[in-house]
Amino acid sequence: MTVKDIAAAIEEWAPRQTAQSYDNVGLQIGRPDREVQRILVALDVTPEVVAEAKDRGTDLIVTHHPLLFRPVKSLTPRSFVGGIALEIAEAGIALYAAHTNLDAARGGVSFALADRLGLNEVDFLAPLEDHVVKLVTFVPASHAAEVRKAIAVAGAGVIGNYDACAFTSAGTGYFRPSEDSQPFIGEASGEIQSAEEIRLEVQLPDWQLEGVLSALKVAHPYEEVAYDVYKVQQPYRDAGLGAVGHLTSPLETEEFLDHIANALDAPALRYSGGSASPILRVAVCGGSGSDLIGRAAAAGAQAFVTADVTYHRFFEILDSDGGSSMLLVDAGHYETEKATDELVARFLRNAFPDLSVSTTKHRTAAMRHHISSPVSSS
Ligand SMILES: [Zn+2]
Repeated sequence: MTVKDIAAAIEEWAPRQTAQSYDNVGLQIGRPDREVQRILVALDVTPEVVAEAKDRGTDLIVTHHPLLFRPVKSLTPRSFVGGIALEIAEAGIALYAAHTNLDAARGGVSFALADRLGLNEVDFLAPLEDHVVKLVTFVPASHAAEVRKAIAVAGAGVIGNYDACAFTSAGTGYFRPSEDSQPFIGEASGEIQSAEEIRLEVQLPDWQLEGVLSALKVAHPYEEVAYDVYKVQQPYRDAGLGAVGHLTSPLETEEFLDHIANALDAPALRYSGGSASPILRVAVCGGSGSDLIGRAAAAGAQAFVTADVTYHRFFEILDSDGGSSMLLVDAGHYETEKATDELVARFLRNAFPDLSVSTTKHRTAAMRHHISSPVSSS
């Protein structure tokens, strides 16, 4: 098994194209054809993680947060990132990151958080926008079924629980072959000709377009295949951000806060608002999910658990009369993403049963909490 094989498996689950535009995901250090026997999974790469990887004879480190994110000016021990990158490269270890593409994957980061909190019937909070395209092509009736099947096999036409979805209509195509052409129908006579054709249309996510177009060109009999690709203004339901589900039984606000702190092993929670009724429907987003506060409220969540909530955003869920529509909880970036290590390790063990896959034993967050001791009043 090589680094490339492992990357391909991860990217089938969490396509790179679903990563946010600012992100830097994929292979960060190492050769794609390097053989892999041992993998270490961590949220972040730290000097402790690198030391652990060396001790374990690790070939590949898989992280959620990319080590190489902002431009690095030098690979020397003088900077935190450059020094770690240098050490990983010198040790011949490969480094791979699945970041916002794993946030967006079904069963990804927020699903792992939802699972940790005991939520049921979990689905995306905000399906990904701007990724659905429509492919339209024109095929002679004799080859319509074959082309339709070929592009379905390549992944086109999946809508919810249905696959191979397509629409066809009949019409007439016109063309004038040049002297150098080899038309499938008619001949290069210099005259405009026509053919009875089927207009075949399918939907697909844009990251499958390349593969689907290749399959189309192989199966289509024409020398020049006419096709159009349109952007469809429709969310893609099989990738998204955040997750929403419900607890097995309702909890009062204080009980719910205790439940989160225990489930996530969070030393402190920051929150605002509260729920007038016991909390049953809960939205979550692992890591920085403040932009989904409105989506969580719109989804009818009585609580939204995320991280990196800034001071002013805590006001957003408050009503003018002092009440609130929702409890907003910042449980910590590391704490809301910690379940990702085990999630990725489980995925890799299932996909590659012969490989040795471990999760780091270190707490990789740089940030620590200082909890003051109570001041004696005597
Ligand atoms: Zn994160």
